[in-house]
Amino acid sequence: MGTMSTEATLLARCSSKCELCSSESPLTPFVVAPHTQVTVDHAVMLCDTCKGQIEDAETVDVNHWRCLNDSMWSQEPPVQVLAWRQLKQLASENGWAQDLVDMMYMEEETLKWAEIGMDDDAEKTLDVNGVELKKGDDVTVIKDLPVKGSSLVIKQGTVVRGISLADDPKLISGKANGQSMYLIAEYCRKK
Ligand SMILES: [Zn+2]
Repeated sequence: MGTMSTEATLLARCSSKCELCSSESPLTPFVVAPHTQVTVDHAVMLCDTCKGQIEDAETVDVNHWRCLNDSMWSQEPPVQVLAWRQLKQLASENGWAQDLVDMMYMEEETLKWAEIGMDDDAEKTLDVNGVELKKGDDVTVIKDLPVKGSSLVIKQGTVVRGISLADDPKLISGKANGQSMYLIAEYCRKK
């Protein structure tokens, strides 16, 4: 292997098939950020379809990425990182992608690489367990919460269905006991 060029080594690794979708169309090495050099450890061989959709999220064809169902199990860290990032992007609107993210296994070091440059957690609305809350989720209130400006108490165990997010990521809004109100996200648990 020592005399093989990087690209030849990569082509041998992937048997000349796109490492994400297995297409046999022409492949080019794609460097997985934040790395900038094409090396065997940091590059993935991609077809133009995968490369184009990764570089321009506007052009994403969700069904194309069903291919990650297979390629997420690759033994190659750069392939895992790329698959994980793509699944994370799709996961907000596609339950199947979130399911795959949840199933995925990566070494700690690889996961750290994958997380670099992804959305900052500070901007997300998280429940008591650090699980991201999204519009339409149902949550359970985990402690008695007095409602500001009233004698009302939202009892522990109250279920709030179909929440909405608020401008402040620490808050969610929803209806409890027939009243619309804001709740502190970390006093809720996603159902
Ligand atoms: Zn591809």
